[in-house]
Amino acid sequence: MAAADDWVARTAGLVRAEAERRHPGEAPTCASGISPSGAVHLGNLRELMVPHLVANEVRTQGAPCRHILSWDDYDRLRRVPAGFPASFAEHVGRPLSAVPDPCDRHPNWAEHFKEPLRESLARLGVLVTEISQTQMYTSGAYTEQIVTAMRRRADIGAVLARYQTRRTEPDEDDPQPAAARDYYPFKPYCAACGRDDTTVTAYDDQTTEITYTCACGAHAGPTPIAQVAGKLVWKVDWPMRWAYERVTFEPAGVDHSSPGSSFTVGGELVSEIFGGEMPLHFGYAFVGTSGGSSKMSGSAGGAPTPADALEIFEPPLIRWLYARRRPEQSITLAFNQEVGRVYDEWDALSRKVADGTADAPARTVYARAAGTAEGPLPVTPRPLPFRTLASVADISAGDVTQILRIVRDLTAPEPVATLEEVRPRLDCAQAWVARYLDPADRTQIRREPDLDRLADLTDAERDAIKILTERMGEDWSYDGLTTLVYGIPKLQRGLLITAPPDAELKVVQRTWFVLLYQLLIGKDTGPRMPTLLLALGQDRIRSLLTPG
Ligand SMILES: [Zn+2]
Ligand SMILES: [Zn+2]
Repeated sequence: MAAADDWVARTAGLVRAEAERRHPGEAPTCASGISPSGAVHLGNLRELMVPHLVANEVRTQGAPCRHILSWDDYDRLRRVPAGFPASFAEHVGRPLSAVPDPCDRHPNWAEHFKEPLRESLARLGVLVTEISQTQMYTSGAYTEQIVTAMRRRADIGAVLARYQTRRTEPDEDDPQPAAARDYYPFKPYCAACGRDDTTVTAYDDQTTEITYTCACGAHAGPTPIAQVAGKLVWKVDWPMRWAYERVTFEPAGVDHSSPGSSFTVGGELVSEIFGGEMPLHFGYAFVGTSGGSSKMSGSAGGAPTPADALEIFEPPLIRWLYARRRPEQSITLAFNQEVGRVYDEWDALSRKVADGTADAPARTVYARAAGTAEGPLPVTPRPLPFRTLASVADISAGDVTQILRIVRDLTAPEPVATLEEVRPRLDCAQAWVARYLDPADRTQIRREPDLDRLADLTDAERDAIKILTERMGEDWSYDGLTTLVYGIPKLQRGLLITAPPDAELKVVQRTWFVLLYQLLIGKDTGPRMPTLLLALGQDRIRSLLTPG
């Protein structure tokens, strides 16, 4: 395949060249940062997917590339997210890793929210090197950088002050007036209460001893700063880590790229204070969702998580949704009826790639979605259309025996042996029907025949039903039933069952389908007719169409 020329390939080329210029012979580092302060939403996944796709492209080219996931688990708990007991409010101000686990199965609050994202990343083939900021800070890894930042506090304060005048919103992470003479870029976690409601009152550049007070009444120090729990304020912390980890590439949400943002400020601090360089970067646009957010399962607060998306989308589809859009384009992930259309598009692309008719850009984006440098992602061996499987799940109400019977009929003449052949897509379809299909759109098969309507049938309608019930057994398969149900109006007009329909015939076909839907499920529309017929089975169809 010729070298691809999409945003992923172009960025990977820039990243490799930049890493070579900065640190010859060293692998590039792509970086993501996530705060495990609450459920990590689907919107945050772009923070991981953009660097992943770039790092994966470098690795696919045969060169090493590091993708670090920096967990901001040493950040303070700012507020208790919706859906958690108010009693957690006592922990506001403590590091996320020092807040108790809300479910008692994890070591702490931060780990509780890391676990589901970690599982989702593994399923998506996103390979990361995790770095816990709690581990880094408490092990003393950053002591030298902290001492440097404290010694250069006046210079840092001056840079921050320069941007502060243009700042439009209050900065929760850095509430101290940066211009003040007693500005300190280090925020202790109080030794007495564990919170960061602290004020540094003195710092000795010679001894590195720090003194602070806390809102709880505690006074501490002077103590060598290496022995004091705490962290650099965010706008200093971020550029410090760019230098420490030698980050080559780190994208950020578009809001981070504005003037006066932490990215802009960090760009000055990283070179001036920490002797590093700003990463290559660009802003990525918003990820939205449509449909069903109010019924989202795993996430208190409503917004869907990657795990919610993986319940209804096979992993390659999610990779595809991110890979096919340029970072500056927004993405909308659908949880409503659009899901079926997304699957159909993906299946069409897969077929084109398989039969060699896909063009080069389509092949490239398909390859990025279907696998990683480490290998292909698992696929559904027999990928039946999602909408068909959703109809099967809907009609069968989850009865596995019934599902297997229907799926066998659907896959004639080479019927599946077990449902494993249609998994995980079947599971996705079942989850979608259970969670996101509007109850008004669910299929309710009639328990009793509609005797009133049956008594009113015209001769032509009665004749059509007779043809259907007499001939449906001749080729009881999706294709056979498709030909028959569409063909019955043709037969009634003396045409061949395979005759191409004209406009008038199409109207007759629609009327005929409405009649069938009414008699079978009491609505004017429903699942595709052949799927519905296969799901019902011949006896049930006869009992509803020709009772007595
Ligand atoms: Zn937990
Ligand atoms: Zn305190």
